[in-house]
Amino acid sequence: MQNTHIDIAVIGGGPGGYATALRASELGLSVILVNREERLGGTCLNRGCIPSKALITATRAIHNVSDAKRMGIDASIDSIDFAKLAAFKDNAVKTMTDGLASLLAARKVNVVKGEASIVENHRVRVTTDVANTDNRSADDATVPERTSKNDAQSVNNSNNPDSPDSSSSFEINADNIVIATGSRPRPLPDHPFAGRIIDSTQALDLPRFPKSAVIVGAGAVAVEFASMWNAAGVDVTMLIRHERVLSHMHHRTSMALTRALARNGVHIVTHSHLTDVKNAPNGSEATVSYACDKDKNGTEHEVQADVVLAAIGRDPNTNADWFKDAGIELDEHDLVNTDANGATSQPGIWAVGDITQGPALAYRAFEQGIVIAESIAGLNPKPVDNATVPVVVFSTPEFASVGLTLEKAKANPDIHDPKETVYPMMGNARILMSGEPGSMSVVTGSHDDRPDTPVILGVHMLAPDAGDLIAEAEQLVGNRVPLGDAARLIHPHPTFSEAFGEVLLKADGRPLHTR
Ligand code: FAD
Repeated sequence: MQNTHIDIAVIGGGPGGYATALRASELGLSVILVNREERLGGTCLNRGCIPSKALITATRAIHNVSDAKRMGIDASIDSIDFAKLAAFKDNAVKTMTDGLASLLAARKVNVVKGEASIVENHRVRVTTDVANTDNRSADDATVPERTSKNDAQSVNNSNNPDSPDSSSSFEINADNIVIATGSRPRPLPDHPFAGRIIDSTQALDLPRFPKSAVIVGAGAVAVEFASMWNAAGVDVTMLIRHERVLSHMHHRTSMALTRALARNGVHIVTHSHLTDVKNAPNGSEATVSYACDKDKNGTEHEVQADVVLAAIGRDPNTNADWFKDAGIELDEHDLVNTDANGATSQPGIWAVGDITQGPALAYRAFEQGIVIAESIAGLNPKPVDNATVPVVVFSTPEFASVGLTLEKAKANPDIHDPKETVYPMMGNARILMSGEPGSMSVVTGSHDDRPDTPVILGVHMLAPDAGDLIAEAEQLVGNRVPLGDAARLIHPHPTFSEAFGEVLLKADGRPLHTR
C-alpha cells in the first residue's frame, strides 16, 4: 500500500465528480478521481442522459415516419434491426465516455478505478479490486449486463509517475474530499426489482422494445420512457398518483403534456397505484393489478404487460457506513446537507450532484462541481441557484420549465404584482406545421428591491425543441432581465422561438400576432 497526498480527492466519476475534477485541475490543483466503474460518466453517460436520448432520437425517427402521412407522404417502417439500434446507443455512450477520459487525462486528473470510503476527515481509502456494481441494478436474467471495457480510463501508472501503485488497497491524504456518489433507482414499496419489474437501467438495455409496458411513476424518467416506447408502437399504460404527469410542475404545461401523451395513445390511469404484480408461469409476461382512488369500493383492475418499469424516483448513494462514521449530516431524505457552495457539515468535505438537495440533473451537477472547485481554490464563486435551474423532459413534444409558477410567485411576499401570460401556440406557424400541441406561459412580477421594474420570474413551455428554447428563458430568469428589455429581443421568423418572443411582447402589454 502506498499513501498519496493531494489537494482534492473526488469520490465518483459522474457529472458532479468529473466537473469538479476538471475545473479544479484547470485551476492548478492536484486531483485524484476515484470511480468504482470501469467507465467514467456515472449514471448520466452510461445509463441515463446519453443512452436514453440515443433511443429517443431513434424513436423520433419512427414518429416522423408515421407522421409523414399527414403531409401526403406514404412511408412505413419495415422492421427494426435491434442489434444495430443497440450499437447506435452503445456507440454514443462509448464516444462520450472515451471523450471524457481523454479530457480528464489532458487536464492531468489522476483517475483510479476503485471503491472509495472516507476513513477520517482528510483520508480516503481506495480498494481497487472491486467489481462493477452500478450497472447491475436488478437480477432480471432477460436483461444483458454491460461488459464493455474502457482501459484508457483505468489509472495508468506508467504514464503518471505520481499514480498510486496497483495494490488492492491504498490511502489518499487529501486537503479536500468531494463526495459525488450519485443515486440509484428506487424500488416500488413491497415489489423489489425482480422478474418483469425492471428499473430504468434495465429498460435501456432491453434487447428489443417490449410489446406492452406498465410504467409506474409520473416524473421525467417515466414520461420519457412512455413517450419513447409509445412512438415505437409499444402498448403503454402509465399508473400515476395524480391527475397529470409531472404533477409538481407548472399546471397548464404538465396538463398539456398529459393530454399530448394520451392523444398519442398512452393509456394514463390517473389517481391510481399498483397493488400487485404476478409473473406468468412461463415468465413471459406479468399481470399487473392496480386500484384507482375514484373507485370507492376498492375495485382492482388488471393489465398484462411484458415489462413493468418502476420509475418512482431515485435514492441517494449515502447509505454506506462511512458517511455516518465521518459525521456527514444527512436530511430526512438521506440527502447530504450542504451550504450554498457545497460544503458539508464536516470541514474539508464537500458534496455534489444527486446526493444533494435540489433537482437531480446532470447540468446542475456540472455547475455545482465548478462552484466547489472554485471555492476550494479560494475564488468567490456565485452559488448555484436551484430556483433557476431549468427542467427539461425529452418527451414528444418536449416539456421545459424554469423559475416560478404563478402560485409560487404569489406565495412569495417579496414579489409584487405577479401575473401569468399565455400565448396561444397555434398562432405559431412552425407549431402548426409540426402537428404537435404546445403551450407557452410566462410569469412576471417585480422584486422588492426594484418594485417598478417587472422581470421574468418563470417560463413554462411544451413544444418541439423546448429543451433548447428554455436556455434563452433561463438567461432572462437567472439574470433578472427587465421584461421591457427582454420583450425587445428579436426572434427569427418562422421559428418555434418566435412563440417565446410573442409571449414576452404580450406580457409587456404590446401583443403583436395575438390579442
Ligand atoms: P452519478 O452520475 O450517479 O455518478 C456517481 C458515480 O459515482 C458513479 O460512476 C458511481 O459508480 C460512482 N461511485 C459511487 N459510489 C462510489 C464509491 N464509494 N467509490 C467510487 N465510486 C463511487 N440528467 C440530465 O441532466 N439530463 C438528462 O437528459 C437526464 N436523463 C436521465 C435519464 C435517466 C434514465 C436517468 C436515470 C437519469 C437522467 N438524468 C438526466 C439524471 C442524471 O443522470 C443525474 O442527475 C447525474 O448523473 C447525477 O450525477 P452524479 O455525479 O451526482 O452521480
